[in-house]
Amino acid sequence: MTSTPRRRLDNPADLAEGIRHGNRAALARAITLAESRKPEHREIARTLMKTLLPRTGKALRVGITGVPGVGKSTTIDTLGSNLTAAGHKVAVLTVDPSSTRTGGSILGDKTRMAQLAIDSNAFIRPSPSAGTLGGVAAKTRETMLLCEAAGFDVILVETVGIGQSEVTVANMVDFFLVLMLPGAGDELQGIKKGVLEVADMIAVNKADGDGADRARQAASNYRAALHLMAPKSMTWSPPVITISGLANQGLDKLWEQIELHHSKMTASGEWQQRRQDQQVSWMYDLLQQRVMEALERSNRSSSRLKELETHVRLGETPVSVAVDELAKLIGVH
Ligand code: GDP
Repeated sequence: MTSTPRRRLDNPADLAEGIRHGNRAALARAITLAESRKPEHREIARTLMKTLLPRTGKALRVGITGVPGVGKSTTIDTLGSNLTAAGHKVAVLTVDPSSTRTGGSILGDKTRMAQLAIDSNAFIRPSPSAGTLGGVAAKTRETMLLCEAAGFDVILVETVGIGQSEVTVANMVDFFLVLMLPGAGDELQGIKKGVLEVADMIAVNKADGDGADRARQAASNYRAALHLMAPKSMTWSPPVITISGLANQGLDKLWEQIELHHSKMTASGEWQQRRQDQQVSWMYDLLQQRVMEALERSNRSSSRLKELETHVRLGETPVSVAVDELAKLIGVH
């Protein structure tokens, strides 16, 4: 397939066929087309999405976050390898808004996951490196669907705790896992409350060797913190467990909890509800993005956008007046 001419690969029917057969070159090309800003590429991607839609939605989608150094890549490498050994096909995607600023991604580097990178039942795709967080997220959602159509039944979406990225990722997955470091009691101060609100489980990592006791202590602190919060679901109380991604300890329990969550939430109807809500919010996200792109594409409105931004910043123009003018420029009255 690698010798297949690019032209043939850009035919939606051929791409769909390749993806259906789990062809990695076809999958990678389709993702590139979906990420592209070129209208002709997007057109192909849209046709492809329409064709493949019935084959999507069947994977377990799991988001994973944690501060740099907590052990995300180590844990994903081990967990993903456990899963492929058990017969799963695992795709690892990353949402890294920092890559849009620095041009380089701190996540998703294949070398961070040495075992999975050479596993024929795993697929690692780094974060798209252009656009806003919303843009990166929208592209990751499409990539997720393409991976599902290619037969991946577990999608792990990794993100760092930058800005709103956790909440954004939590809103595109079925289960959101927060990794924490063991600490001696003061670790609670460093975490953002918003993260606990969207967590479906907390796993304190590095619970090995000297870290084991401290990890258990941290886990009991997080349990207490979660108790104080209003439950996100009537069916599911986020458990707090201890794991070692490095020593492959506790990861079987971790996966059991994810499967238990799946069966309980499916039985209560919340699973389907969550997916439906996510679809709708995706639609609005895309619409917003489309409007912003329309503004930026037309030269007249994009230069006026910058001017009005300055006026608004300095308090010289009311926001409502600026929005009115910009809306008119793209034909919205
Ligand atoms: P990331 O930045 O969150 O992806 O973290 P990494 O997976 O790169 O891990 C950061 C450092 O912590 C590396 O030196 C890992 O070897 C180490 N590490 C990761 N998981 C564990 C673990 O379970 N136990 C111990 N002791 N070290 C770990």
